[in-house]
Amino acid sequence: MQLLFALRSRGVTDGAVLDAMERVDRGLFVRGIFAERAYEDTPLPIACGQTISQPSVVGMMTQALEVGPRDKVLEIGTGSGYQAAILGHLARRVYTIDRHRRLAMDARRVIESTGATNITVICADGTLGLPEQAPFDRILVTAAAEDPPGPLLAELRVGGIMVVPVGQSDTVQTLLKVTRTEDGFDYQVMRPVRFVPLLEGLGQE
Ligand code: SAH
Repeated sequence: MQLLFALRSRGVTDGAVLDAMERVDRGLFVRGIFAERAYEDTPLPIACGQTISQPSVVGMMTQALEVGPRDKVLEIGTGSGYQAAILGHLARRVYTIDRHRRLAMDARRVIESTGATNITVICADGTLGLPEQAPFDRILVTAAAEDPPGPLLAELRVGGIMVVPVGQSDTVQTLLKVTRTEDGFDYQVMRPVRFVPLLEGLGQE
């Protein structure tokens, strides 16, 4: 498959991640005039002015998250639901939050149609985290924040990993890998990326 070749050539080499990505049909998550480009390694517009991320970036972030089969994962920024569907093949349990009700509803419908039963889609402001399910083994943020949101850091289990794009502008962002240790947090800068902003509050429909 053309997409898998692109993933490998961009450094996504983890067998479990490639396998999970092979099992998720990106074509289900892109609608309208862009659907025919679903198998290209490019970000594409979805509803509410948002984007489905570039597959190689999805792969790279998923790989950095080092998800194990017993992990409980929180994703902030459901968007199309594509990333959540991939995480669902790697983790025990996935909670994914979007601030746009329409995106959350559409994503829930597509994910359910795939037969996945370990993914819960929630419409809420993800910057507040999900206290009732915390702590999480892994947290993936797929919208760019100025800094990793405090409530999310607080909901990361000791030994847990969070991957989050950070940056003060739309154009200059870096992907950060945060590991919670016994006595604090380790920060590892990964690479430049470009994501839509993490915004507070619910989306205006
Ligand atoms: N992971 C998605 C792409 C994410 S696009 C996919 O696989 O398709 C970024 C998403 O973050 C958008 O849908 C946007 O609505 C959402 N978002 C931005 N700020 C948010 C917040 N505070 N809480 C929850 N979702 C947020």
